[in-house]
Amino acid sequence: MIDLKKIRSDFPGLQINVHGKPYVYFDSAATSQKPKMVIDAVTSYYTDYTANVHRGIYFASEKATNHYESVRAQVAQLIHASSERNIIFTKGTTESINMVAYSWARKHLKPGDEILITEMEHHSNLVPWQIAAQDTGAILKYIPITMDGTLDLSDIGLLLSPSTKLFAITQQSNVLGTVNPIKELVRKGHDMGAVVLVDAAQSVPHQSVDVQDLNCDFLAFSGHKMLGPTGVGVLYGKMEILEDMTPFHGGGEMINRVTMQESTWNDIPYRFEAGTPNIAQVIGLGAAIDYLNDIGMATVHFYEQELLAHAKNALSDIDGITIYGPENNCGAVIPFNIDGIHAADLAQFLDQDGIAVRAGHHCAQPIMDKFGVSSTVRASFYVYNTKDEVDQFIQCLNNIKKYFV
Ligand code: PLP
Repeated sequence: MIDLKKIRSDFPGLQINVHGKPYVYFDSAATSQKPKMVIDAVTSYYTDYTANVHRGIYFASEKATNHYESVRAQVAQLIHASSERNIIFTKGTTESINMVAYSWARKHLKPGDEILITEMEHHSNLVPWQIAAQDTGAILKYIPITMDGTLDLSDIGLLLSPSTKLFAITQQSNVLGTVNPIKELVRKGHDMGAVVLVDAAQSVPHQSVDVQDLNCDFLAFSGHKMLGPTGVGVLYGKMEILEDMTPFHGGGEMINRVTMQESTWNDIPYRFEAGTPNIAQVIGLGAAIDYLNDIGMATVHFYEQELLAHAKNALSDIDGITIYGPENNCGAVIPFNIDGIHAADLAQFLDQDGIAVRAGHHCAQPIMDKFGVSSTVRASFYVYNTKDEVDQFIQCLNNIKKYFV
């Protein structure tokens, strides 16, 4: 059983009033609220033991290093990686994917090779591949989506071929909530000899993810969407593939021996963490993982699905509403439009009622093109949201509608 009262009291960001109304935060797909223990962990690093990691032979530096490295082990455990050496800290999903696009793709792709992605990718898992294709002469291909917001896999046998060297797919769409059959897609990619990257920005925060079971080669996610601080993310990679990548950034920490002419590289993962890392943010991410583990990822997922079903059910009664995305296999995200009201106007009216939702193209313009709309409203939930908030949201939508008749 989920203790919602306790959970809500842990989040200072939920205690505020907006325009004189209690704050309802329905934009967790963009970034999540942070529990006090995460904020405290960050503050404690700055107040109690600020020092750089891996370098100092004194109390604060050793403490910071121990905390920083123990989070690597926590992340490995969270996603069931076989070793913490597979875990590279980055500043977020975007940087993780760019690291693969620069350090792996530019080394391995040649003209005529193919990169396969899908029409439902966030720009972070699309633009880096456009640039990599331009730089290497590789060809970028897309798996289309159907009008119900799922992947159209009818031509997968043609789209995936021995020419496909890199297959990059999202596990859960940030726009539609669609949860893709990722294990099957990884297997299909491997059958053709492709390296497979999973964008897990929207899945790791909301469900249990097992990289060994998925058998993906890379997996990327962000701390700030899973109760952690901004400025920290993760790239998981299989060791033999990480070993076969060129360094992303050059600088301190990533080297072993430097002469005037050349350098040798440090061991993995440090080879890919040049310079002073985001120490406080990594430590904050550790506290976020502790927090999620205390609730249990299965409970988080189950509760969010209950909330989603409640919200979809109530929303579907609103006249003139179009809800996008699939009916089943969906994360706690609801994209919609209401006839005659622009998404941005709706979001602004909701803001006056203290309700934060997103309106726009959600960094996935190809999906908007597909559905023939320029924007949608997106309500996205996390483990701290309640059915009462959903009911309040529905009531506000019904009130707003009255202004537009
Ligand atoms: N991929 C998906 C599916 C996302 O939803 C997001 C962010 O919304 C990203 C990638 C990029 O994440 P970040 O901005 O944290 O790098």
